[in-house]
Amino acid sequence: MSETSVKSMEAIVSLCKRRGFIYPASEIYGGINGFWDYGPLGAQLKKNLRDAWWQDMIMNPCWGRSGPDGDRVRCVPVETRIIQHPRVWEASGHVGGFNDPMQTCKQCKKLLRADHVPDLLAESEWVASLAGVAGRAAQEQVLIEGTEVLKWTGGKGKKLAANLAIYRDAEASVRIVAKLRETTTPIALAEVIRIIGNTSSAENPWPCPICGGELTEPRPFNLMFPTVIGATGDWESDRAYLRPETAQGIFVQFKNVVDTTRVKVPFGIGNTGTSFRNEVTPRNFTFRSREFEQAELEFFCHPEESQEWYRFWRDFRMEWWQSIGLRGDNLILREHEKDELSHYSTGTSDVEYRFPFTAPGFGELEGIAHRGCFDLTQHQQFSGTKLDYFDTDRGETLPNGSKKGERYIPHVIEPAAGLDRGALALLCEAYTRDESRPSPEIMRFHPRMAPIKAAVFPLVNKDGMPEVAEKLHAELFRRFGHAGFIETDAKQSIGKRYARMDEAGCPYCFTIDGQTLTDQTVTVRDRDTGGQERIGLDKVKTYLEERLGV
Ligand code: ATP
Repeated sequence: MSETSVKSMEAIVSLCKRRGFIYPASEIYGGINGFWDYGPLGAQLKKNLRDAWWQDMIMNPCWGRSGPDGDRVRCVPVETRIIQHPRVWEASGHVGGFNDPMQTCKQCKKLLRADHVPDLLAESEWVASLAGVAGRAAQEQVLIEGTEVLKWTGGKGKKLAANLAIYRDAEASVRIVAKLRETTTPIALAEVIRIIGNTSSAENPWPCPICGGELTEPRPFNLMFPTVIGATGDWESDRAYLRPETAQGIFVQFKNVVDTTRVKVPFGIGNTGTSFRNEVTPRNFTFRSREFEQAELEFFCHPEESQEWYRFWRDFRMEWWQSIGLRGDNLILREHEKDELSHYSTGTSDVEYRFPFTAPGFGELEGIAHRGCFDLTQHQQFSGTKLDYFDTDRGETLPNGSKKGERYIPHVIEPAAGLDRGALALLCEAYTRDESRPSPEIMRFHPRMAPIKAAVFPLVNKDGMPEVAEKLHAELFRRFGHAGFIETDAKQSIGKRYARMDEAGCPYCFTIDGQTLTDQTVTVRDRDTGGQERIGLDKVKTYLEERLGV
């Protein structure tokens, strides 16, 4: 097998489009920046991820394990609305503080998140072009005078970055030329970027990564999407917001859940759904979108037990992502440094994945935060409704043997996952190129995540084979159809049909051939090895049950 380990994001994005995983939203109108739609295979992939989260976090939390208190972990779901009372977002701090520093390019007018500018520069085509010119000049020991080096060769760079600051700025040019004179080896991209502007100070600012123009000073930009409720259209009195996270819906319903169900602290409330953030620079495919889905759990516990619960959830969440196929060095659990923590948090960890566009670095899939009693206290203060909890299992033991009880505001551990980022990590992890195969692109999804669970093929579309295939397909569909597609296809050569299934990530293909009609066996083809074996027609269902885990 000759697999390539470096994965190209371009190849992944192209396969996602070609095979119906992810499409640009509103594509026939030219697309809309920061929004993506899922095609048939992508929608099912995401559903499998959401279902696995729901099953392993709410229905059978932590696979039936006991928590640090020795009891089984207990969780219940809610489904709360995208639009909440505007005061919710004042209490949560989103209206006042949910800001990213933003810069505008004075030339091309693009808005950019200040902390993304260095990364965007590293990816910028004109910087790569400049590095090429500079590198060649250095290699050929060309004596560069004045601003000569900055005259783009071949016109490409000039077209890409017509407003390049250094192209117009004589002082910056002289600085670069001086630096290039010292260089005798091809100059690294990073070095060019460093020379162009290694700080964002007033004297030496970063240029615009898109056109090379001058950027404004960073200023705060609120990420909340405002909207207006009702017919008056008054932006002041009727303003509301699309939620930037699903978590606040949980805190707001905490009292109702406690009062109307039999939950007792410690317990969790889970919520999944769409969130919106007006990201300044949406990028990296679906990784940073303006509309995305979250799966969040708020786990309420006694303050004294909260550190143990924090460690418990942090470790379980890492194990969970591994269990659905994100393994090896590409997945890490990163504990935040003290200076990264929010003022109310005593511990936060991120589960991070090495995406092709972050490599060798990592990007966050989920944050697990110890939030203390911050959110309930804030909502108690802003709403004027008591949100403490009366724990009848705590306090002094009374003469009759019962407990006196203790009143407290529970502490909260929040594992907050992103389902779109999760699906993107599954796609990147699954993508494999194997040049020794007739069709080299294979999506090696974990069977639980695979959108197509199995395919049934008649080897040829005659001689009684289609009828047997049809019957097996119907049987498998009844048993596994709730968890994904069961495909059947009689067109094209069997090799082409296998290749199509490899690209879609279908783990098992069953083929009905001449031998099936005589001895009631079928071939099973394994996606990952390409190997085949024969099993009884009546064993196919059990074979899949043992491997799919659904
Ligand atoms: P980032 O630092 O990447 O902006 P965050 O720390 O603000 O993310 P949280 O508020 O902790 O993110 O949200 C929980 C999860 O929601 C994230 O781990 C991520 O998976 C997902 N998420 C957040 N913002 C986006 C986005 N713009 N697009 C897609 N998913 C997102």
